[in-house]
Amino acid sequence: MAVDLANPGNFLTTRLRQAINWGRKYSLWPIPYGTACCAIEFMAAVSSYHDLSRYGAELVRFSPRQSDLMIVAGTISYKQAPILKTIYAQMCEPKWVVAMGVCASSGGFYKNYGTLQGIDRVIPTDIYVAGCPPTPENLFHGLLLLQDKIDREGLVASAQRHGEQTG
Ligand code: SF4
Repeated sequence: MAVDLANPGNFLTTRLRQAINWGRKYSLWPIPYGTACCAIEFMAAVSSYHDLSRYGAELVRFSPRQSDLMIVAGTISYKQAPILKTIYAQMCEPKWVVAMGVCASSGGFYKNYGTLQGIDRVIPTDIYVAGCPPTPENLFHGLLLLQDKIDREGLVASAQRHGEQTG
């Protein structure tokens, strides 16, 4: 319950889950896991013209311990997969993952012996953003979907999360 200090007779009620999820979804701290060309597009998304901060996710961190949103931007090889898993494991709970672009989502056109066919083979993935590369607007659409998803989550972190697809 929140009291309106200007008019102490007025108050607002909500549910704890909704209040906490409201804070979570508008204060995401992304860690970019960039390995290829999609990472360049990610740089455009966080720069001033497109301005990721409009979605409350501008505080890009390069330490997994300070991040709750991993954005995987680029191709992941089988050699990279254990590293990706380790960095994901080091992130705080609750945490979410966005696969940015077809390479991260499914291996893309790299259907070969060395390329992981989608990051969801090794880490739970919440949102798949279509495109090669996705535009910043595609990525923002994915973030909006993620915010909706966070809004619906229970307080106990998201062990049984299911993927959603953009585009
Ligand atoms: S999806 Fe396209 S742009 Fe993104 S990393 Fe793969 S090849 Fe590069």
